Amino acid sequence: MIDAYGRKITYLRLSVTELCNLRCRYCMPEDGVCKKRHEDMLTQEEMLAAVKAAAELGITKVRVTGGEPLVKRDILSICRGVARTEGIEEVCITTNGTLLPELARPLREAGVSRVNISLDTLDAQKYAYITRRGSLEEALRGIDAALNAGYDKVKINTVLIGGFNDDEIPALAELTRKYPVDLRFIELMPMVDSKDFGPEAFIPCDLVRRKLPELETEPQDNGVARLYRLPGAQGRIGLISPVSSHFCGTCNRIRLTADGKIKPCLHSDQEFPIKGLDYQGMLEQMRAAILAKPACHGELSAQSLSHAGRSMNQIGG
Ligand code: SAM
Ligand code: SF4
Repeated sequence: MIDAYGRKITYLRLSVTELCNLRCRYCMPEDGVCKKRHEDMLTQEEMLAAVKAAAELGITKVRVTGGEPLVKRDILSICRGVARTEGIEEVCITTNGTLLPELARPLREAGVSRVNISLDTLDAQKYAYITRRGSLEEALRGIDAALNAGYDKVKINTVLIGGFNDDEIPALAELTRKYPVDLRFIELMPMVDSKDFGPEAFIPCDLVRRKLPELETEPQDNGVARLYRLPGAQGRIGLISPVSSHFCGTCNRIRLTADGKIKPCLHSDQEFPIKGLDYQGMLEQMRAAILAKPACHGELSAQSLSHAGRSMNQIGG
């Protein structure tokens, strides 16, 4: 479906849970989320009906996310159901990777073709600090498991944080020489939970180009990253700059939260509830949400927080 600004909406980010086994400092509060009532969350049947409605409106790609999607008990049957939905051509997942050693193969067999793994540092102590409880070793084992499970593509997502990992840009980039992975640096977004980060933490992705002058420009695909490659590397380096240079003009996505709200824009508090609706009702809400997509989100900076109205783990980053 085409939205009010001529953008073709083809991509749904489906959050299957708000819960997570980590507590990244820029994403969620230390004490976790206040667990909502089970009956307020979408059931698997409702998620799959929503995906079917989305496909009817032209969605072809679904990214399963959260919270941490792999802590969801029925994650395999959700992914299988999404992959079998008529019109859905691609099912991807975004994960912190820690549960991939057990789940990488079953997810691949369930029809997931691409996996993005979040990794902000290669230093075990810094990993434990930024995730408040995670183990770097588990995350690295997760990357290994994904690489051995036959995915079409494995990507690593690194949130670039001034004073935390800007000194690791060359080491993180080296992963693209060592493994057949794309690594994407993503600017830290000023969400409600990132308010403890000072202005120095919000650094533009252009810093990566200054730190890695040898980067060669790669042809662009239809994603949001600007693409480069280290000479001779197996994978590409992507720069995703939602803060310093937003990509609203080509935004092709909508989001569905685990508690059943369609969000036309990550940085707006406008939401279209679908919990408890029948298929026709979901279809109408989804159409309304697409037509309500704003032309652009407001300013984002250390001083002006996102208007998302929720933590990232409650949206589905
Ligand atoms: N738990 C999974 C994971 O960490 O990959 C999926 C959900 S997480 C919310 C999705 C992505 O959002 C992660 O790559 C995470 O680093 C990113 N993210 C969360 N909060 C962010 C923020 N304030 N700015 C930029 N990226 C953020
Ligand atoms: Fe969990 Fe992912 Fe948020 Fe980290 S970024 S707290 S792993 S949902």
